[in-house]
Amino acid sequence: MSNKLVWPAPTSDVPDRSEESAFQKGSAYVDGKIIPIEEAKVPLLDWGFLRSDACQDTVSVWDGSFFRLTDHLDRFERSVQRLRMDTAPVTRSNIHRIVHKLVAVCGFRDAYVQIIMTRGRPPIGSRDLRLCSNSFQAFCVPYMWIANPEKQEIGMAVHVSRRVRIPPQSVDPLVKHYHWLDFEMGLFEAYENGADTVVLTDLDGNITEGPGFNVFAVIDGVLRTPSFGMLDGMTRRTVMELCNELNLDVTQETISLERLLIASEIFLTTTAGGIIPVSSVNGTGIGFGSVGEQTRRIHRSYWDKRSSGWYGEPVAYAQKALLEP
Ligand code: PLP
Repeated sequence: MSNKLVWPAPTSDVPDRSEESAFQKGSAYVDGKIIPIEEAKVPLLDWGFLRSDACQDTVSVWDGSFFRLTDHLDRFERSVQRLRMDTAPVTRSNIHRIVHKLVAVCGFRDAYVQIIMTRGRPPIGSRDLRLCSNSFQAFCVPYMWIANPEKQEIGMAVHVSRRVRIPPQSVDPLVKHYHWLDFEMGLFEAYENGADTVVLTDLDGNITEGPGFNVFAVIDGVLRTPSFGMLDGMTRRTVMELCNELNLDVTQETISLERLLIASEIFLTTTAGGIIPVSSVNGTGIGFGSVGEQTRRIHRSYWDKRSSGWYGEPVAYAQKALLEP
């Protein structure tokens, strides 16, 4: 097997319209209309903005195909229900049509699409949550990487902070939400320590997750990922399925910082980049200075299977029936 990480070459012949249009930087769905991303605005009084009272889901498009769109729509519905929001502002079939259209107007082959439900606002003078009309919005931008392919080959330097991830007793981590101040302050701490990103712990000092990713570690030959206090990431779920196919042992369990430091391999999983190798934790090198064997196999399998259409749904770039309102 080659020693390099590989990404599939594009194969589809859908034209890239991004250079020619007002949508070259992306598109947004706001107030029932599709508009260029740079024109999209959030109403100041929406509690999504004033209180981080919102949930979202993010799905990727690679080589003209959505990945696990049905599963992302299921997770979004779960988040909306857990936040006691109303699914009425938009039906599932509408969301489905909107995300296709957002990508199609841009013509992006590789994209990052976010669907969002905010609490909305109550009438002026009221603070009654029950009077808010929830509001749906969405956007599409070019594909985003937590670490681009060059960086992935080197691996990310991770800083594990003693800062505690907002606990499940306070905010349900199974809701994909925007409570990120703990991550963001942790990121500044990581930068000050010469690291690329941060991982936060729970109240018992166990690893949870980082800004936009889950964590896997190979310890004593077994793949291990935290079982508590984090989002059930779609890429995490995908990796566990791949491990079963590849006959790799995988478990969900608590992982202390001390155990993480003896891992032979560590990688991060995210919609924004897939499987991201880690080269160091708190300044300690992980493995033998190059991407480990299990990480490489999973990375390869993830991208190979995606390019062969696994869990894929081709973007309806030209299917008028799906795109018309
Ligand atoms: N954990 C958090 C807090 C996230 O925000 C994300 C994604 O944005 C993840 C984990 C990874 O989830 P997924 O693989 O679905 O992108």
